[in-house]
Amino acid sequence: MELVHESILTELKASGKLPTPAGVALTILELTRNPDSSTEDINLVLKGDPSLSGQILKYANSAASGCREEVSTVNDALVRLGMKMVQQLCLGFSILSTSRHGQCAGFDYPLYWARSLARGVSAQVLSATLGGVNAEEGFTCGLLAEIGSLGLASVYPGEYTEILRDWNRGSSAELSAMESREFSIHRHQVTCALFEDWRLPETFGKAALLLDLDELPTAPIDRAELTRPRQLAYLLGLADLAAGICTTTGLEQDQLVLRFLEVGAALGIPEQEWIETHDLIRAEWERMGQVLDIQTQNQPAMSRLKRRAAESEKSGELKDFEENGAVGRTEEEELLIGSPDPAGIDDSILQTTTGLDILVANDNPIEQRILLNKLSEVGHRVHFASDGQEALERAMQTSPQVILANWSLGKINGLELARMLRQSEQTQGTYLIIMTSNEDRESLVEAFEAGIDDYLVKPLNHDVLDARLKAAARLVQLQEQSARDREILRQNVLKMGKLTRQLQVMALEDQLTALPNRRAGLEQFDKEWSRAMRNESTLICMILDIDHFKGVNDTYGHDVGDVVLQRTAAALKTAIRDSDTVCRFGGEEFLLICPEADLQMAMKIGDRVRRTIEENHIQCPGYDGGVTVSIGVALRGPEHESPQALVKQADEALYAAKENGRNKVCIYSD
Ligand code: GH3
Ligand code: MG
Ligand code: MG
Repeated sequence: MELVHESILTELKASGKLPTPAGVALTILELTRNPDSSTEDINLVLKGDPSLSGQILKYANSAASGCREEVSTVNDALVRLGMKMVQQLCLGFSILSTSRHGQCAGFDYPLYWARSLARGVSAQVLSATLGGVNAEEGFTCGLLAEIGSLGLASVYPGEYTEILRDWNRGSSAELSAMESREFSIHRHQVTCALFEDWRLPETFGKAALLLDLDELPTAPIDRAELTRPRQLAYLLGLADLAAGICTTTGLEQDQLVLRFLEVGAALGIPEQEWIETHDLIRAEWERMGQVLDIQTQNQPAMSRLKRRAAESEKSGELKDFEENGAVGRTEEEELLIGSPDPAGIDDSILQTTTGLDILVANDNPIEQRILLNKLSEVGHRVHFASDGQEALERAMQTSPQVILANWSLGKINGLELARMLRQSEQTQGTYLIIMTSNEDRESLVEAFEAGIDDYLVKPLNHDVLDARLKAAARLVQLQEQSARDREILRQNVLKMGKLTRQLQVMALEDQLTALPNRRAGLEQFDKEWSRAMRNESTLICMILDIDHFKGVNDTYGHDVGDVVLQRTAAALKTAIRDSDTVCRFGGEEFLLICPEADLQMAMKIGDRVRRTIEENHIQCPGYDGGVTVSIGVALRGPEHESPQALVKQADEALYAAKENGRNKVCIYSD
């Protein structure tokens, strides 16, 4: 399915709405991609953004990084944290600064960042407790682990609002399923694609993909046995639980507190130590919240939360809450979600321009009055700023269509104002007319180079002013028309992309079982085959066939047969390893490819699969029972010329398994 993801990322990027790092962080990303760049280069670039370097310094000095001597220069921070880490932090902090707000009405941006920060801090603190994952990496990965949901909210604000409303804070896996249905991709896949794009370590993306799959085990597990992505996913799951306690209240919080304590016990950590770990997380979250200007709540200490949760459990309140399912929304939230769909084209672009929104930057009260009278008389809407700084701020806040600015304007004059306006994405297209009493050629050339669109000579002739504003209005209208066209085009690209994706998924996925279909399975088989040839490693191929399936159809009907097929496929998926490939091979047959498995393992895997299906109890209206499968196994050897040769032998072994009485695993032998 890699193809699908690539095309999705391209499409989401084309929307221009994905969370992206800005300015300096982008340059730093570029630098770290270049093997020749040094910490000195990063140091230089970072100095150009005092706010970002301040955040990096504060992070480097944060309590959880250890009680070492305070660092006071970016260079020291680079030495302490390392170049890769500083790059990751710049990325995280920069995305935060560019995505604090957005268009998706159903998406709670402040809560999203509060929880992400809590998750980052938790992952950082817990990595020290649990080991296995570097603390700083834990922080970035925790901070950005749900960036995919921000991505979907940014690209599809209208649809995502509806999804969040229908989801009604159900489980994480439910949200992923709803996202996949609507967009053919879920937020963890978007996260993974973005991580890849930003060249974060591969483990991060793989861990993000595992986020819904694993419920946190409350029984002891041997974490040393987990692969690196699984270790990180486990840490992130735990960090999210700890983060949830920071950002929820009431019974929802009680439920998380009990779960957190349960997991601590399963990990064999003494309760007091575990409680103190959460207190540290909370304190660190509040401190980092101030550094990054993220609103955090005042939460009680864990020991108090624990007492309260125990009381809710004892009184039965918690049980009621769990049984009644998801949390209800407050009336305010319902109202917010019911507000009009913001996904459509921006209203401001749709307004027809009778008069223009004009910002006049002029410090002379008499001239202001004259201009106000003259301009409002012909239907323009006028705002004033009395110096360059104020003009810049108002231009950013109100996005006027035309700025009429005096050449001299206090500290920032008209020329500097022009240069600054042209640097910002928001104001670079704003029509700027300079009013000057100095008409010498050199000054005018300089002014045009600085970015003005036109000039007027003072004292103003009102007919000329009128004529120039008419020219401005024509250009503004053209610009707005082209913005509308671009917006329509963008929305069409998005719609087309969604359709293409659905088609691609349909082409590779079996609709009934949601497993890869025969074509996708065989493509993957080819890849595994080449890999096994290259590495001279083993590979086994299994064909599974449901026993007496015709009987199920004949006795209970085709619809029941379909359900039995679906449930059997789902059970089959739980019995195989991440690295194995399974597909629906046809009718009631499945193909399973297990790379790097020898004959002994083949027997083990085959028997596990057979038993899992035998023990899988299926209940649906009109049916209560189960099925068995027969399995044929073939092991790749030097004599096999192609995957097809192996499939043929597995098929022969399957036949033998059927002959032997069914519900059997049979290995091919000559
Ligand atoms: P055996 O143990 O020898 O495999 O017996 P069997 O009955 O499973 O084998 P057979 O090949 O005779 O029957 C397979 C049946 O699977 C026949 C076909 O109608 C049914 N089947 C294939 N695809 C589907 C499907 O998508 N839905 C349903 N309900 N049935 C299907
Ligand atoms: Mg069959
Ligand atoms: Mg069969």
